[in-house]
Amino acid sequence: MNIKNNILKFQESLLGTSCKLVAVTKTKPISDILEAYEAGLTRFGENKVQELTEKSSQLPEDIEWHMIGHLQRNKVKYIAPFISLIHSVDSFRLLQEVNKEGIKNNRIINCLLQMHIAEEETKFGLSEKELFDLINSVEFDDLQNIKILGLMGMATFTDDEKQIRKEFKGLKKLFERIKEQPARENLFFSELSMGMSSDYKIGIEEGSTMIRVGSAIFGSR
Ligand SMILES: *Cc1c(COP(=O)(O)O)cnc(C)c1O
Repeated sequence: MNIKNNILKFQESLLGTSCKLVAVTKTKPISDILEAYEAGLTRFGENKVQELTEKSSQLPEDIEWHMIGHLQRNKVKYIAPFISLIHSVDSFRLLQEVNKEGIKNNRIINCLLQMHIAEEETKFGLSEKELFDLINSVEFDDLQNIKILGLMGMATFTDDEKQIRKEFKGLKKLFERIKEQPARENLFFSELSMGMSSDYKIGIEEGSTMIRVGSAIFGSR
C-alpha cells in the first residue's frame, strides 16, 4: 500500500466538493498514521476508546481525533478531554454522559447522532422516531456542553448500489428536514457523515460532508 499516493487520490476526488476526509486508522500502526499526517492529513478516526487514547498520546497535538465506533457510557471520560467529534451517539443516556464529561472538562463536545439506515439488524443507530423524540425532548435543551452537528449512517453491506443510494438519500432527506428547523444552542446541523471505502463515491454524490475511509488508504485489515 502506498499511503501517500492513496491520500493524494482522495484529495483530488474531494477537490471542489465540501466533503471532508476522515482517515480511519483502526488496527493500523502509529507509523502509518504518521505517514498520512506527513502527507497532510490531520483528521483521523478510530472505533475503540483504548486504541484511540493510546494512539493520540503518541501523536502530534494538532491531530483532530474522531470517535466513529460504538461508545460505551463508562468510557466517555477517557476521550472527553480531547475528542473533536463523536460520530456514534445513539442514545439519550450516552448523550447525557457526554454532556456530563463536557462539563467536567469545561468544553463543548461535538457529536453526530448515528442513524440506523441499513437493513442489517446488527448495526447500531437510532430510528427516525427515536431521533425526533430525542431532539424534541425537554431534557435535551438542558444539555449545554454538547453540540449536535448532524447525522452519521452506515449503509447496508451489499454490492447493490441502488440499495446503498436509497439509504443515503433517505439520510440526507432527514438531515435537511432537521437543518431547516430554527437553530438551537446545542443543535446546529452542518455535517452528514456517510460513506466508507466501498461506498464513498455514492456518499459524496448524495451529499455527504464527511467520508470515513480506512482500507482504501491503509490497506485491508
Ligand atoms: C472501519 C470503519 C470505517 C472505515 O471502513 P473502511 O471500509 O475500511 O473504509 C468507517 N466507519 C466506521 C464506523 C468504521 O467502523
